[in-house]
Amino acid sequence: MLKVVEIFYSLQGEGAFCGVPSIFIRLHGCNLACSFCDDALHKGEFELYDYGKILDIIKEYPSKQIIITGGEPTLYDLNEFINFLQKRDYFVCIESNGYGFENVKNANWITYSPKDWDDIKEDGWSELKFIVSKDSDVQKIVDLKSQKPIFVQPLNFFDKPNKQNLDFCIDLVKKYPHLKLSIQMHKFLGVR
Ligand code: SF4
Repeated sequence: MLKVVEIFYSLQGEGAFCGVPSIFIRLHGCNLACSFCDDALHKGEFELYDYGKILDIIKEYPSKQIIITGGEPTLYDLNEFINFLQKRDYFVCIESNGYGFENVKNANWITYSPKDWDDIKEDGWSELKFIVSKDSDVQKIVDLKSQKPIFVQPLNFFDKPNKQNLDFCIDLVKKYPHLKLSIQMHKFLGVR
């Protein structure tokens, strides 16, 4: 059984799969309490769903792209659930702050968004995503080297882009082109 806050269908607005129609499964709870978190998204009510119930919901959508998010989904051992989905031809992506990569090691794609930039894990992820404001000390990001994608994403308001932070990130990736820009496209489009 999984603690499901919500399941919805939209476009992935961030990272390497930006623009891909995706089914979002939001799980309850997080190990952190970031100041910028819209924590109503993961601290509120949830339902306990078994795998069959979740499959009944997601098979109504035409996409085979799943994004398991939170909160922090790696609070839970999801490897069996990921296998269950993959056997049904789903491509399973995880969004994580890096709490427990071993709990999602079977996933097809792991987006790692470290919140402590002094403790960045070298392995266990597919892409890195840093939430950046114009006041961030970005030297640690600039110094990172990886063959895998490293995204900087402006810290936005809950429901719309923050222009100052966006401009800062644009200047950053232009100056350091081993970085890529992730813009939370859904907030520009006004879609969920
Ligand atoms: S890691 Fe993500 S979900 Fe958890 S408190 Fe921070 S912003 Fe919120």
